[in-house]
Amino acid sequence: MNFQQLPIQTSAQYLLNDSRQLSSPQRSIFFAIKGLHHDGHQFLDDLYRKGIREFVVERNALTPTLLRELDRMPEAKIWQVENSILAMQEVAKRHREQYNFPIIAITGSNGKTVVKEWLSQLLSNRFKVVKSPKSYNSQIGVPLSVWQMNETHNLGIFEVGISRPEEMTNLEKVVQPQIGIFTNIGNAHNEFFEGNSQKIREKLLLFKNAKQLIYCADYVEIDEIIKKEFSIQNPDCELISWSRIARTTGLFPVTQHGKDSRATDIQANWITEYQNTKVTLNFPQQTETFDVPFTDEASIENAIHCIVTLWHLGYNSVEIQARLQILRPVSMRLELKQGIRNNYLIDDTYNNDLAGLNIALNFLSQQKQRNNKVLILSDLLETGIPEKDLYLQIAHLIKQRHLNQFIGIGEVIFRNKSLFQSIKNNTETQIQFFKTTVEFLESEALKNIQESVILVKGARRFGFESIVNRLVQKTHRTVLEINLDAVTNNLNYFRDKIGQKTKIMVMVKAFAYGSGSTEVANLLQFHGVDYLAVAYTDEGVSLRQNGIYLPIMVMNPSENDFEQLVEFSLEPEIYNPKILKQFSEYIDNRNISSKIHLKLDTGMHRLGFEQEQLPELIATLQSNPNLWVSTIFSHLAAADEDKFDDFTLHQVEEFTKMSNQISEAIGYVPSRHLANSAGIARFPEARMDMVRLGVGLYGLAAKPEDQENLMTVGTLKTVISQIKHIKNSDTVGYGRKGELTRDTKTATIAIGYADGFDRRFSRGVGEVLIHGHRCKVVGNVCMDMTMVDVTDVPHVQEGDEVIIFGNDLTMIELANKIGTIAYEILTSVSQRVKRVFYQM
Ligand SMILES: *Cc1c(COP(=O)(O)O)cnc(C)c1O
Repeated sequence: MNFQQLPIQTSAQYLLNDSRQLSSPQRSIFFAIKGLHHDGHQFLDDLYRKGIREFVVERNALTPTLLRELDRMPEAKIWQVENSILAMQEVAKRHREQYNFPIIAITGSNGKTVVKEWLSQLLSNRFKVVKSPKSYNSQIGVPLSVWQMNETHNLGIFEVGISRPEEMTNLEKVVQPQIGIFTNIGNAHNEFFEGNSQKIREKLLLFKNAKQLIYCADYVEIDEIIKKEFSIQNPDCELISWSRIARTTGLFPVTQHGKDSRATDIQANWITEYQNTKVTLNFPQQTETFDVPFTDEASIENAIHCIVTLWHLGYNSVEIQARLQILRPVSMRLELKQGIRNNYLIDDTYNNDLAGLNIALNFLSQQKQRNNKVLILSDLLETGIPEKDLYLQIAHLIKQRHLNQFIGIGEVIFRNKSLFQSIKNNTETQIQFFKTTVEFLESEALKNIQESVILVKGARRFGFESIVNRLVQKTHRTVLEINLDAVTNNLNYFRDKIGQKTKIMVMVKAFAYGSGSTEVANLLQFHGVDYLAVAYTDEGVSLRQNGIYLPIMVMNPSENDFEQLVEFSLEPEIYNPKILKQFSEYIDNRNISSKIHLKLDTGMHRLGFEQEQLPELIATLQSNPNLWVSTIFSHLAAADEDKFDDFTLHQVEEFTKMSNQISEAIGYVPSRHLANSAGIARFPEARMDMVRLGVGLYGLAAKPEDQENLMTVGTLKTVISQIKHIKNSDTVGYGRKGELTRDTKTATIAIGYADGFDRRFSRGVGEVLIHGHRCKVVGNVCMDMTMVDVTDVPHVQEGDEVIIFGNDLTMIELANKIGTIAYEILTSVSQRVKRVFYQM
């Protein structure tokens, strides 16, 4: 074993913290991190075999077994540290200290990513910018971002977030910014902070050595703390604030800062026009007006942070104005869509840098639905990396990923195509180059791609939308967007709750509660859940056919599908003597064995063996050793209702008794599970060996404390097909049911009861969101369309987006309006509505 002296000295190009994201073993150093759900130390051996030679391990993870394992890695360099995350930060800090160019750091509750992305777009004409990829702003994301700095850059822009006190002090050392931007402070619930003031003080630690701090003084708490405390702790820092509200009395301690006070307050005003906003800023010497191509408050605020930063960096107003015109909404999304010819499509037409490419490639290899992987890539613009180096690095990335096909589009990538030769020589990857998108579209290349996952990644100027349009299944513009990050967040929340000793089975029945079984299951598999469960055999078969290899329990099997159960290694729930007899005969006749799951009825009275049937069950099991009872379980009938808590506790007791009886008789102890989402939250004693997580994963909780920590998974959206102005005396829709009380502007939206927009929402019961306004349904919901009242919505246009449910209009609210439960709202979204999956 080769333990190395600290500090860590590495020549690695990549800092790796997630073993699943390995791409270049010879160029990576692995930091083994002990998390709640993952312990990086479990993968050392595997990574060594894949070629990694540098490892950072935590002292308290070094068990005798692990030491023996390390002994079998003669070529490994190993550093022992107290905490791998801190070690990674320390390595990044030393890296950062090699460079003298200015760093801008951005913190705050919202807008960090947008301000960072916009600034880097705006400043790219004068600077070679290195920035955080995506929203890499965490304890791990920040060192990974800083690690990208090299001699080709001359400005860094990094975003920094914290979720606990104490974290910022370390991150400040990693980033060491000269210029700070504090975007804003929100009231987002955060269990680790006492309140906003504490959050603000912690965040300000990022700027303790900064020379300038830009912020919006309308956030009074921020302004107060900066002027009363921060300005004393860091008196050298120039404060550049802007505010919309005229301040008559400054909070600023004038006496201390006197006349040449290092503080500037820029007065801001704006008028919103149809699609843009005129922002007037009173700088100390002059007043300037800028056209900002947005109208919502958040974007205006973000844009002003950017303008003030550019002004501070010496841009004049003409140049600022010209640059502002290139701003576009920032979407960090990687979208996964179903394509034609059985393809899947990953749409990443926004990000256009090397780090973004790497992230997108990770997402691509994570998709197990198809084996065939294709990358369509345009020239990468404004990376600051010399051309040859850049395309060599890209060629290297592609080679490591074992792609089946690579298509490069653009003049620059075309003239560098020889650099990709090495891929051709020793892999099976098929490679092709085109000078323009049009040339590519006119070729046959696109038509030949089938049964693949295709990553489409191109800079805006290449118009890759036209490639995406040719590849996606045509939709009728109503989509259910599924936020995969929210699924991950919710899964981790419940995992934290149940602890490491309890396993987790996730219910992906009914098309994963309407959210898309294959794609959700693929994500759950990536995160290593223990089991999946579906209601019917065909749902399980479909998962197997789409690359899901996790154990799968089928809750409602029938004699007709035993063949398939066995063929696809699906495990049946056995719930009554009849199915038990049928299945054991089937197994016996073929002389095979199978895992089964026994369902007991403890009060739900749906499926399951009852107490009196246990002797017969036990006898059958004893005489059929080919039936291996993998788990025993039961279902709670009312875990979400406290008035039935006694009943639930009785179920727990019954279940314990009945399952003990079986275990004792069969001579081994199968694992036991009882709790659904509400059970997990409300009855720790029901968690046992495993839990069955359902609706909680999709963002609905039984307890308000849980709801705060869950994220909305699904957003159902459609568009306005037509707008009409209708006289008071007229009516709207079938049966003339839409009676009006005033002259009304209506919007006909492209969703009806056939899409799952319940007919009970008719005549004012239902509401939808358009530009943030609630609009009531007028008349009856039709099969494919619905009319809503948009009289009070300014600037509304045909083609505008309509939210049916999501974050600001929840499924729970919808359910309450028509006397049902959120489960029904979610699972009713019909299959003709396309699901689009995304990840930030
Ligand atoms: C659907 C289901 C669950 C999950 O229930 P949720 O309330 O959605 O968490 C658990 N167990 C069984 C048997 C189920 O059918």
